[in-house]
Amino acid sequence: MTINLPMPRIPGASSKLKDNPVAGHKRVLLAAPRGYCAGVDRAVVAVEKALALYGAPVYVRKQIVHNVHVVAELEQRGAIFVNEVDEVPHGAHVVFSAHGVSPAVVNAAAERQLHAIDATCPLVTKVHREAVRFARDDFEILLIGHDGHEEVEGTAGEAPEHVTLVTSPEHADAIEVRDPDKVVWLSQTTLSVDETMETVRRLRERFPKLQDPPSDDICYATQNRQVAIKKVAADADLVIVVGSANSSNSVRLVEVALENGAKAAHRIDYANEMKQEWFDGVATVGVTSGASVPEVLVQEVLDTLGGAGYRDVERITTAEEDLMFSLPKELRRDLDGGVDARARGGRKRA
Ligand code: SF4
Repeated sequence: MTINLPMPRIPGASSKLKDNPVAGHKRVLLAAPRGYCAGVDRAVVAVEKALALYGAPVYVRKQIVHNVHVVAELEQRGAIFVNEVDEVPHGAHVVFSAHGVSPAVVNAAAERQLHAIDATCPLVTKVHREAVRFARDDFEILLIGHDGHEEVEGTAGEAPEHVTLVTSPEHADAIEVRDPDKVVWLSQTTLSVDETMETVRRLRERFPKLQDPPSDDICYATQNRQVAIKKVAADADLVIVVGSANSSNSVRLVEVALENGAKAAHRIDYANEMKQEWFDGVATVGVTSGASVPEVLVQEVLDTLGGAGYRDVERITTAEEDLMFSLPKELRRDLDGGVDARARGGRKRA
């Protein structure tokens, strides 16, 4: 089954940016890695595959990934985004987003006899499993993350009696625990590495027996994008981060850029949001994008910058990424025994 609905238009490149003279050579430092991670790619392809297999509409609980353009594009193809599964008609197909869900959501979907497709990123699922294991061993879990973020709600929902949320280094100073000898920290996958380590340092000052997670919870994609933008920011007068306001890892990239030498940094969804005044006296522009951002949006930014005289683009590469995750098992089962190559993995990288 094919769906031939028009794509949402990307707003045109801003005609407002002028080729103003600046002291020095105008150039762009383009961070790599940037943009789509393996978990986002898998989640977006999962919705596309579900639409093709089952037909529209396919329901998606929450934004499949935190990017307004991706969500608008999938909406045009027939995805319906809902906040909770009780908004989904009985028996319909529903996709759980890359950020994960708590067991309560899984159970609510089962009660409505929904056909659930779990697009939770495997690296989020890993943190869920850690939470279950430490709760079973009666640890108090200090979950470092942002209050109200879907991923935090999903992880905390695995063991609500055992999880205490720690939202910042300052919050770590005030946390009270049941038994300081039996505490472990876990974290959201998309945090600032440096700030999280500061939170852990302060927690450990208060609770010396604090256990570490078995492996990094902040995922490879978040870490790699932060390392790349640190290198770019050191030489940039201005950093442009492409990503949505509710994308935790995109917002962190702005913060990391500012903490690591960028004189200014701004987050935008689309190229036409760049403002002329940001470029006064700017010779070097750093560019990156969050893990949920399609590359076409970065290309629009580069085109706009090119029109303003920033035509010399240097790629700053700090890591290569080739990780791919297989599609959710529910889709693999229904995709005719894996005949379709994309049933086994995400989208091929450009
Ligand atoms: S940012 Fe990390 S945890 Fe989130 S979907 Fe991407 S790979 Fe998975």
